[in-house]
Amino acid sequence: MNIGIIGGGIIGLSSAYYLNKAGHQVTIIDQTDLKDGCSHGNAGMIVPSHFIPLATPGMISKGIKWMFSSTSPFYVRPRLSGDLIKWGYQFYKHSTKQHVAHSIPALKEISLLSKAMYQQMARDLSFDFGYSERGLMMLYQNAETEKEEAETAHLANKIGIEAHVLSEAEVQQLEPEVKVKVRGGVYFPGDAHLTPQLLVKQLIAYLKEKGVDFKTNTYVTDLITERGSIKVLKTNGGDLSFDEVIIATGSWSGEVAAKLGITVPMQAGKGYSFTLQNMVRNVQIPSIFLEARVAITPMGNALRFGGTMEITGVDHGINMNRVKGIVNSIPHYYPEMKVAMPEEKEIWHGLRPCSPDGLPYIGKSRRIKNLTFATGHSMMGLSLGPGTGKLISEIIDHEKPSMPIAAFDPERFD
Ligand SMILES: Cc1cc2nc3c(=O)[nH]c(=O)nc-3n(C[C@H](O)[C@H](O)[C@H](O)COP(=O)(O)OP(=O)(O)OC[C@H]3O[C@@H](n4cnc5c(N)ncnc54)[C@H](O)[C@@H]3O)c2cc1C
Repeated sequence: MNIGIIGGGIIGLSSAYYLNKAGHQVTIIDQTDLKDGCSHGNAGMIVPSHFIPLATPGMISKGIKWMFSSTSPFYVRPRLSGDLIKWGYQFYKHSTKQHVAHSIPALKEISLLSKAMYQQMARDLSFDFGYSERGLMMLYQNAETEKEEAETAHLANKIGIEAHVLSEAEVQQLEPEVKVKVRGGVYFPGDAHLTPQLLVKQLIAYLKEKGVDFKTNTYVTDLITERGSIKVLKTNGGDLSFDEVIIATGSWSGEVAAKLGITVPMQAGKGYSFTLQNMVRNVQIPSIFLEARVAITPMGNALRFGGTMEITGVDHGINMNRVKGIVNSIPHYYPEMKVAMPEEKEIWHGLRPCSPDGLPYIGKSRRIKNLTFATGHSMMGLSLGPGTGKLISEIIDHEKPSMPIAAFDPERFD
């Protein structure tokens, strides 16, 4: 089949990878030149440990507390936007124990599927994208976080995700080059990491070589339907037609779906990262500073710090106060690491595509015959990319999906 994928981030590229392998003619259409974007400068973590969705009991009260500090890791810009209000209401409605229980099996399954796909890609592809299985360390400073994280570790072990609660000395033993100051940590040995910009750049080159067509700087302005199918994609470069269309447009998916009259609630969650090069003594295991919500990932001899979640719409401004929040958190956990405040030009930002219930949208549209969604992966798009791509290829080919996908129904809010 002739398949058009709108969006060339990790989700669109992973879908193209498996659809191309299955023998389809694939075209990726993206409004940018694909040299940057959310899939490039993120923290590169592959996280089966993240089986709990963002919408959880207690998250709203934490969020409200954070809203009042300019250096905190979370902020919602109050706006008179119907979409934001509806999204916020759905987030609130899903912040329940029942929703968490319903989401855990689906998130766990797709994470494990995706990690298995990464393992296979690391074996099959001739290029190196820094894939490494050293686990993930969740580090904490206070008793309240310790209690929450111990509960998560207990639950993880119960569902088959290995987790170990460690003392400060045990954390230090696993981190021989960098002095650590923590109350303790939880170690998830099954997590992995990679260098996202290396993966994306080389995957694009690989797909081009395999015959995938890339239409960059091409903005899809409209999707024209006829008898319940998409007939034409209107773009600034002319009309395009495909047998099947996949919407993998990340934070923009709400507005693209709206052109078809379909409600796919989505908010952009802006985050920042900066990368220190040529570390003489580097962190060995990717870590998350839990109270500060900062992610730290070694990438070769570089070290990347990422964090913050600003729900401010599709907005590309850099808020240096939030970056300061990230920098200020470092000595609390790594007391001997001296990190100067980076300049604005050194800050990367990305817009995470956030669904209100913390689950992605993966599956066929019920309303439009030749339309499939692959979006809304929020803080885990890199992690879930190949798993999603594999599922998309199975859906398009009417094969039994590798896992149940009902929880990801793209029209569950429609
Ligand atoms: C600071 C930070 C750290 C992160 N760390 C991690 C991590 O450690 N692990 C992890 O798994 N995830 C992480 N993430 C999240 C991850 O980066 C995202 O979930 C992922 O990149 C989303 O991929 P995507 O393909 O859905 O969207 P994108 O990468 O945003 O791709 C969507 C593409 O669609 C294109 N597009 C949109 N509308 C149109 C249109 N109308 N016409 C043409 N093109 C269009 C856009 O130009 C864009 O290129 C992090 C994010 C941030 C910000």
